[in-house]
Amino acid sequence: MSYPALATRTAVVTGAASGMGAATARLLAANGARVALLARRTDRLDALTAEIAAAGGGQALAVTADVTDQASVDAAAKAVHDAYGRVDLVVNNAGVMLPNPVDDGRIDEWSRMIDTNVTGALRIVRAFTDDLVAAAADGRTADLVNISSIASHVAFPGYAVYGATKAALTQLSAALRTELGPRDVRVATIEPGLTDTELGGHVDNPALRDQLATMFAAIPALGAEDVADLVAYTVTRPRHVNLRHLVTLPTRQA
Ligand code: NDP
Repeated sequence: MSYPALATRTAVVTGAASGMGAATARLLAANGARVALLARRTDRLDALTAEIAAAGGGQALAVTADVTDQASVDAAAKAVHDAYGRVDLVVNNAGVMLPNPVDDGRIDEWSRMIDTNVTGALRIVRAFTDDLVAAAADGRTADLVNISSIASHVAFPGYAVYGATKAALTQLSAALRTELGPRDVRVATIEPGLTDTELGGHVDNPALRDQLATMFAAIPALGAEDVADLVAYTVTRPRHVNLRHLVTLPTRQA
């Protein structure tokens, strides 16, 4: 799809090294946006930046960043501001999914998920909210898009903590709308279902890995591009229209 309104936008996409983040960055840039790509794997970001430059259209900036590390987020925000000035579109997409039965007591995984999916998202909100408010005050369109999950509403055994982090992100979005909406900053939550990305690659529980593989075999999953398209659609509505909460599932995932 083509979204000409993106040509005036300056965006930050977290988790842009792979999956939905990479697809979103690619689509925004293809429509003329300037896009800062944040993630930990510099080689992936450099490759995507080169791909975007070769394709023409918008510009991309690779910014190595770990959203669990405040100093890293501070340095990333400075790099983005130095290169692009103020941003008007933030896609809070970085996330990890590390399922295991709760009585396995995997505090290591719980901490990683909470630090990335909740505190990491908050660090990005903290870094770029002033930009969004200022852009909106200038009459521009300003968007914060948080990528949550269907797991914020639907419980799956083994996914208690992951689901809790995504429920927190969904609730955070709702609360932020009450603070930022009156200042004309849109906050949208997108909750995808099964999507074919690298997310399941970190699952270390064999039974849950098999269960995930069975789901992918049974259900034609969404592609990362499907979610990217929804992000682009959402942020190109007229400024007074907020698609505030979107759930997108593969047709065969009930
Ligand atoms: P991927 O694993 O492909 O993408 C996750 C991205 O997050 C990677 O680019 C990764 O890059 C980045 N990331 C992880 N940890 C950090 C960190 N500490 N700091 C910065 N970046 C980080 O999976 P998806 O594209 O599927 O995931 C995107 C979002 O979608 C996640 O929030 C996920 O929870 C959500 N989601 C996914 C679903 C699915 O079925 N795939 C369904 C519903 C929601 P790097 O490792 O280089 O840092």
